[in-house]
Amino acid sequence: MEKCPKCKRENEPTTKEVIFKNGTKHIEARCSLCGAYIKYLSHTTPEKTLLYFGKYKGKTLEEVATEDPDYLHWLYGETAKKNLKEKIDYVLSKI
Ligand SMILES: [Zn+2]
Repeated sequence: MEKCPKCKRENEPTTKEVIFKNGTKHIEARCSLCGAYIKYLSHTTPEKTLLYFGKYKGKTLEEVATEDPDYLHWLYGETAKKNLKEKIDYVLSKI
């Protein structure tokens, strides 16, 4: 349950998938009573995270882990993004 910022009523928000310009997928949660925007819920699992830069732009971490795990090892060492590091670590631990 979420409290709507607009109508202030507790309700189970309606959700819809949206894809941002950088290729990440999010769930947009809106008030089921008045339709006001509540928040974005990131729902991409580590495997389905899309790379939005570099030579594997547009591919998921899972695809890159299968095709070119060395690239992910390299990226892990290169990136300063903690969030991305955690996802790479997770995906690499599964293959
Ligand atoms: Zn509302």
